[in-house]
Amino acid sequence: MAGNLVDTHTHLWDKRFDRDRQHLIRSLHENGIAWILEVGVDLPTSQKSLTLAETYPQVYASVGTHPHDVKDLDQDRLVALKELARNPRCVAIGEIGLDFYRDLSPRPLQIKWFKEQLEWALSIQKPVILHVRQAYEEALAILEGYGSFPAGGVAHCFQSDMRTAERFVALGFHIGIGGPITYSSKDPNAVETLREVARNLPFERLLGETDCPYLTPEPVRGKRNEPAFVKYAIAGIARALERSFEETAFGLRKNAEGLFLVDNVTDR
Ligand SMILES: [Zn+2]
Repeated sequence: MAGNLVDTHTHLWDKRFDRDRQHLIRSLHENGIAWILEVGVDLPTSQKSLTLAETYPQVYASVGTHPHDVKDLDQDRLVALKELARNPRCVAIGEIGLDFYRDLSPRPLQIKWFKEQLEWALSIQKPVILHVRQAYEEALAILEGYGSFPAGGVAHCFQSDMRTAERFVALGFHIGIGGPITYSSKDPNAVETLREVARNLPFERLLGETDCPYLTPEPVRGKRNEPAFVKYAIAGIARALERSFEETAFGLRKNAEGLFLVDNVTDR
């Protein structure tokens, strides 16, 4: 029976899941997970995410091009992505954004394609999944230039302060929190900042996620991350809020279903 856990950010298309992808998806409900959102980072992975979403009712998909991968993006590929997004199993555009930490694509290209993909999402009224790393100021300046995002979106794997979180919320975005909220021994200051963000934002704006196979939470750090481990991130959020795990999980699920317009009742 499905529980109330939702993982709003997975990359099960990753080759690290080649051995057991089917098994992981089939055991989602056993692990208390109602549904997951499988996120593409370029055209092939967006196609794979969508195929998973078409195959399994407990999987939804997001299509788009990650800032790392925009160096290979062109108009033809963007048109192909737009075609994929017409599928009703595609519930968001992303992940898109700016990453000035790893700089795997030239910054001017990151900015150009971030804007183009934002305009696409705005035109089709879909929420966006934002990847922003060491570029919060630059990303917010671009986002604020559009005024607001009526379909909303999520600042995924948020790792900044309250002031920054409030600017995303003012634009209509949610804040995605995953494994890093559990890393208290490694980086106590960053974790305290995240806990403060979780505590002080309106609860309705929070989402839980794994970003699997990356960012494995404590106490399973060191292993490959997977959707079942979203319970540790959600437990971290619940501790910060001083709420029960069940109440937190249920609320986060409602937040995710409201944002991505997922009516998962029909899927159980
Ligand atoms: Zn991701």
